[in-house]
Amino acid sequence: MANSLDLKVNTLEIIDSHIHPPLSNGRNFSSLPGDVMQIESPQAYVDHLKQAGVTRCCGSVIRPPKGEYTLASVARMNQSALEFHHKVGDFYIPAIQFKLGDPDNSCPELEHYYHKEGVRWIGEIFSRSVSQKTLVSPGTFEIYGLAQRLKVPVSIHCTDKDIIWKICREFPRLNIVLSHSVKTPGDIGAWLQLINDAGNLYLDLPPSMTSRYGLIKMAVEGIGSHKVIFGSGFPLRCSQSAIGSYLAAGLNDSQLEAIFSLNFKRLTGIT
Ligand SMILES: [Zn+2]
Repeated sequence: MANSLDLKVNTLEIIDSHIHPPLSNGRNFSSLPGDVMQIESPQAYVDHLKQAGVTRCCGSVIRPPKGEYTLASVARMNQSALEFHHKVGDFYIPAIQFKLGDPDNSCPELEHYYHKEGVRWIGEIFSRSVSQKTLVSPGTFEIYGLAQRLKVPVSIHCTDKDIIWKICREFPRLNIVLSHSVKTPGDIGAWLQLINDAGNLYLDLPPSMTSRYGLIKMAVEGIGSHKVIFGSGFPLRCSQSAIGSYLAAGLNDSQLEAIFSLNFKRLTGIT
């Protein structure tokens, strides 16, 4: 028998803003070497998300083989995202990466994907293979400048508040989505404060935090539901459990609608 959360999921538009599509060689559908779960085809990938209640999804390919973000591997990741979009259609809203600190190559690539392929989302930008300081290098700033002009939000994987604050100050009209920033429940208060101070920050809570009792509600009460964006981290994480955590968080319908779809649409201009 369906319970009330199962019924609720069918009434909502749910855009999962934080998924990672596969590399197009098909060898690694999780995009992450060593992961236990491998998804066998693009259709199986889509089926899993649809069964969880996801209506559409978005997010960039992350971490190429060996983890090196070279110019060639970033280009290949972006090409893979587009190929995935062409295979599965509008269910997947394509998103791209850029090479940190390399505006000469990344800006023309962003222009191309924006104008020719309808890309309206960057990231998650992932910098584990390089220093987080590269997120605030002069070259990377040029790329944020273009994203700000084009009104394309950037999802950044960063745990350093000073770095995020620097980007916010320099680019006050760039919408920045924090992914994986909150590492512990004790850390959330400072991040919520930063979001309130900055004005252009949005929170995509990582699964390790959405599964903590009371933490989603605390975030929504601290910054407002208009600042929270739903993302699961699929296929590293289960989208169904992420959706369930929000549904069970004691939020009202308008808060759920904002988090699951309206905020994403407002930031991207996608209807
Ligand atoms: Zn991720």
